[in-house]
Amino acid sequence: MNGNTEQGVAGGEGIPKVGSEEQMFRMICNTSSCAILYYNFQSGVVRTLANWNSFFDIEVKNEDDFEKIYDCVEKQYVFSLKELLHTECRGMTSDSMVAALKGNNLWVECEAVVEYDGEGRPVEKVIRFKDVTKFKYQDEELAYLAYHDVLTGLYNRNYFVRHLGNFTQRASESKKKVAVMFLDIDDFRKINDVLGIIVGDEVVQQFGQFLGTFRSGQTIVSRFNSDIYCIGIYDPQEERSVEGIYRAIRERLQKPFIISSGQELIISVSVGVAEYPEAAKDVLELVNCAEIVMFKAKSGGKNAIQYFKVPILDDFLQNASIENKLKEAAFHENFVMYFQPQYRIRDGKLRGAEALIRWKDDDGNMISPSVFIPIAEKNGAIVPIGDWVIEESIRLYAGWKKKYNMSLILSINVSSIQYKRDDFVGKLTDTLEKYGVKPSEVELEITESVLIEDFVEVTDKLLILKGYGFKISLDDFGTGYSSLSYLKGLPIDTLKIDKSFIDTVISDYNTRIITESIIHMVKKLGYETVAEGVETKEQYDYLKSMECDTIQGYFLSRPLPSDQVEELLERDV
Ligand code: C2E
Ligand code: CA
Ligand code: CA
Repeated sequence: MNGNTEQGVAGGEGIPKVGSEEQMFRMICNTSSCAILYYNFQSGVVRTLANWNSFFDIEVKNEDDFEKIYDCVEKQYVFSLKELLHTECRGMTSDSMVAALKGNNLWVECEAVVEYDGEGRPVEKVIRFKDVTKFKYQDEELAYLAYHDVLTGLYNRNYFVRHLGNFTQRASESKKKVAVMFLDIDDFRKINDVLGIIVGDEVVQQFGQFLGTFRSGQTIVSRFNSDIYCIGIYDPQEERSVEGIYRAIRERLQKPFIISSGQELIISVSVGVAEYPEAAKDVLELVNCAEIVMFKAKSGGKNAIQYFKVPILDDFLQNASIENKLKEAAFHENFVMYFQPQYRIRDGKLRGAEALIRWKDDDGNMISPSVFIPIAEKNGAIVPIGDWVIEESIRLYAGWKKKYNMSLILSINVSSIQYKRDDFVGKLTDTLEKYGVKPSEVELEITESVLIEDFVEVTDKLLILKGYGFKISLDDFGTGYSSLSYLKGLPIDTLKIDKSFIDTVISDYNTRIITESIIHMVKKLGYETVAEGVETKEQYDYLKSMECDTIQGYFLSRPLPSDQVEELLERDV
């Protein structure tokens, strides 16, 4: 700007010319970086003042010349500028707007101030044009940052949710659907941990940019955070159907991403899908539903798509409420130990009992351990719960032992998290000492998955436990990785054939063959066999003919509370 004030405060009609005031006025105008237009309604005088020439190269001498100003701004601002230049027509004393000037990338803020006389007639007005280019771009940058994810250029979570709200609003009016696809890169933590977060960021960016290609007026794409993306589709169909987009994603993911270091990386994603209005009417709930079913896709083995279903949501909500209740559960009031007797086939005598935890929640509902143990394993509650199980079952067992002067085998389920802890063996032996129970009276049940996790470390630990004299039992055999070959040389004493085998052993020929070979082989290896979940006489007789060692199941006894175990001991021992 050149500060040209040639047309400046030259005086003339309508402008005060009072000695030093005139001087002051001139100075103020000359130092202003704005362009000013003055108009006197009575005299019709128009003046352009201050920095006028650095904004406009037109002369405005009378009201008709206002037309020339309209020509200086970009077309879309002309209408508003006309209104502003005639603010008095709307009876306002001031108004403002921002407009872009033609050609020179200049953004101006235009402000009108109108003076009225006592009767409400306009007397004078001043229109001020101020260069706000710098702020405009800053604003745009801020607006961009407020709405976008910097790494991928996709919408951010907030803006996505807002936009999705517009979609659902429109959909409710036109009776259409809106689909939400919730995407999460599988094992992304591994990429970050092993290859570093820079590589992680590159993957997120490249995949995000790929997802960005689905953007259209009806499809919005966002990165929520980390490796999570969301796609919102208004009226999904044809190329913008969930299936179509998922197919395109799968196709893209067959090829690797090439990182700037030259590394090639293949990824997979798990996707959850929920549709408005079926899954939820509220936008946040809709996204939530898609997220919840995405977890289902993850837990089902990843690299998959899962559509919303009510039972999945119910399960999730139930788990969430169990998780909360678990945190508050007070052991003595909420948990109780049951014991399921195990009988030897050979002589029909009681071999021992498996300790099984029971949980009565505050509402009086019995919650099955198959529901809450996996949750406790996830949130860490399994450690105090497991400690309590060990203490309580050994305490009760010690009581029977003393009262009936006998010795049995107490089987205790140990979760892998408990088992891995350094203080596990110490706690266990301390408890046995406290109640006067020998390690040889205790059998620890571990599952195959524990072994698979870290075969060498687990085997070493098993050897230590065996060194103390504990018995080790492999639980649920046949449900997991079931390889007979790795059984050889394992430091275990007992193998529990899972209920799923027993269930079909009579009806299904293949199961029978497998079960027979398991029993045969296990006996050869010198381990004891326990069949669990035996419910019928036929199953029992069959297992007897197979020379299975021990039977546990409803056919012989359900799990019992301690006082009922005592009744049984009174009879049997
Ligand atoms: P599991 O170790 O396989 O225990 C056997 C489950 O089968 C028990 O269910 C038992 O009640 C049930 N069962 C036994 N015989 C029969 C039968 O003839 N028919 C049928 N339908 N079911 C039978 P429960 O007590 O509900 O326990 C479920 C699972 O929860 C257990 O499976 C075990 O994995 C876990 N669990 C139970 N108590 C504990 C515990 O104290 N600590 C840990 N870590 N896990 C436990
Ligand atoms: Ca068990
Ligand atoms: Ca079992």
